[in-house]
Amino acid sequence: MRLLAGSNVSLELIKHFSFSIIDNFGTNARTYSSRMAWFCSANSNSGLVSNLKRAGIFQSERVEQAMKSVDRGKYVKYDPYRDSPQQIGYGATISAPHMHAHALENLSPFLRPGMKVLDVGCGSGYLTACLAEMVGPEGKVIGLDHIPQLVNLAKDNVMNDRPELLESQRVVFVLGDGRKGYPEEAPYDCIHVGAAAEKLPQDLVDQLKSPGRIFIPVGNHNQYIYQIDKDSDGNVTKKSLMGVMYVPLTDAQKQLRGD
Ligand code: SAH
Repeated sequence: MRLLAGSNVSLELIKHFSFSIIDNFGTNARTYSSRMAWFCSANSNSGLVSNLKRAGIFQSERVEQAMKSVDRGKYVKYDPYRDSPQQIGYGATISAPHMHAHALENLSPFLRPGMKVLDVGCGSGYLTACLAEMVGPEGKVIGLDHIPQLVNLAKDNVMNDRPELLESQRVVFVLGDGRKGYPEEAPYDCIHVGAAAEKLPQDLVDQLKSPGRIFIPVGNHNQYIYQIDKDSDGNVTKKSLMGVMYVPLTDAQKQLRGD
């Protein structure tokens, strides 16, 4: 169950496309992963992204272009082009490609050229690089994680894949507790959160522009992705999008102990 609970996947996709996965739910995470891999996997980054688009996970050509320009093979060692989450160490996972695609599509109105983004729980750095690609050379993305080794991993991965993003400071990785956001660079046009919060952190809402959007998993056993919108008058609305399973947005020590 531990493996499964840290999986960063969409429950809707599992239910919709493979009932046999549900049969194995909680008892055989490996079976689950291999069945997911069957659905959109490919033997290249481009093939994986094309399969996700063909499956209707996203429609936007900007998302397609961003995901094709960031090679998932530079962010995960084994089977990078499977549509499944993978362990990256320190109690973290790189999310499944379909969740990255959902996030980019959902946030795309707030990922226009020149916009500023906060990626909380940046882990491998993969999505941070995709977000940077979407906001272009005039935009900026802050990748934030609370485990120093993961901040370094994200830096190394982006340096290996797209060094110009770091050299130009279009991408900056910082260490900190994501529940407090990163006020030094606020406000943000949008905030992506890659780990499940017990409740919506008010600091993140406060650091959002008007208008702006947050994409965040919230909950413990029953987690849902919430789309939090702040309109141009500062009014905040919340919409539940789908059931998911993400690693928790938690304390660094708890994560490292595996609590
Ligand atoms: N988007 C990342 C997801 C990594 S898994 C990727 O696809 O690679 C979730 C990440 O959230 C982990 O890297 C974990 O270290 C981080 N995290 C968990 N709690 C956190 C907190 N309180 N502050 C910052 N990062 C946190």
